[in-house]
Amino acid sequence: MRWYGQAAPAPQTAMSDIVLGTSARPAARSSEGTNAAVAAFVGASMAANTLAAYRSDWARFERWCQARGLVAAPAAPTAVAVYLAEAATQPAMSAGRQWRYSPATLARWVAGIDKAHEVVGLAGPGAHPEVRAVLSGIRRARATPPERRAPLLLDDVERVVAGMPMAGWPAAVAGWRDRALLVMGWVGAFRRSELVSLMADDVRLHAEDGLHVLLRRSKTDQEAEGAVRALPYARRRPLLCAPCAFVAWAALLAGWEGADGGPGGRPGAMKALRAIAACHGHLCADPGLVRVAGALAASAPGAPLFRPLRQDGAIGAAALTGDAGPRGPRAPLPRASRSPGR
Ligand SMILES: [Zn+2]
Repeated sequence: MRWYGQAAPAPQTAMSDIVLGTSARPAARSSEGTNAAVAAFVGASMAANTLAAYRSDWARFERWCQARGLVAAPAAPTAVAVYLAEAATQPAMSAGRQWRYSPATLARWVAGIDKAHEVVGLAGPGAHPEVRAVLSGIRRARATPPERRAPLLLDDVERVVAGMPMAGWPAAVAGWRDRALLVMGWVGAFRRSELVSLMADDVRLHAEDGLHVLLRRSKTDQEAEGAVRALPYARRRPLLCAPCAFVAWAALLAGWEGADGGPGGRPGAMKALRAIAACHGHLCADPGLVRVAGALAASAPGAPLFRPLRQDGAIGAAALTGDAGPRGPRAPLPRASRSPGR
């Protein structure tokens, strides 16, 4: 499958022709039969829209390289870095947006370029420090830290967070969950439906960017607008720090689930609450809490992040419903969730 005018390809089936529909293959690496089999496998492992996105992303990069007399595969990391920086500074064509391409779109481009390299047995440029630094820089430049937002609104939100219970059973369970909902929702400007559909593995702590939040629903969107949202650290306002809010709630949830290797249930959650109380300063900078929070995603990646609570503090297994208030539904849960075998 060809996408635009080029010299005729060698008469054989290359993986890149099937997966990416391009000429990203410097040489045949294996026999035709193996190529076709692997190509079918690679193609089947990807959703049709993901495949289409990779194809158009790769075609864009190839055109860009051709116009500059550069080799697209293997791509020089500097060329990819320039390519990204150039796109990142293009202004939006529609009103209401400042930039034409979101950091998430640019990250997807890199994934497409990597994929085009991968299928022909080349190392992709995406892992190169130069490319990573450019992507990270774009994300940081685009993310507006809470410190820079309207101060009145900031104070209001901070006051609400400060009023939330952070110690004592069962109030602290609701307090930490609601703090995570409020701070993450406010900083990330998420819709309620986006927040409640988050799974444990959708939120990752990033050393420079803060939180990376994956919005799975946006994955089908061709533009992949906002597929990954960065929630920056709020260094000077710990109460409004989204990474702090997430780490505390995830650690509590991990304690409840026993994902941290602890007893689970109320004793496990209490242990997490004590660790939170013992931390002075940013919770997101506490190695112990960060480790426990990460254990949740590792042990149950598909588990819902935000869940209903019972009056006695028991944490439900299902996702919080979109229409539930910040205090959760009134109806009692049938059973609190416990990991099997305990
Ligand atoms: Zn923090």
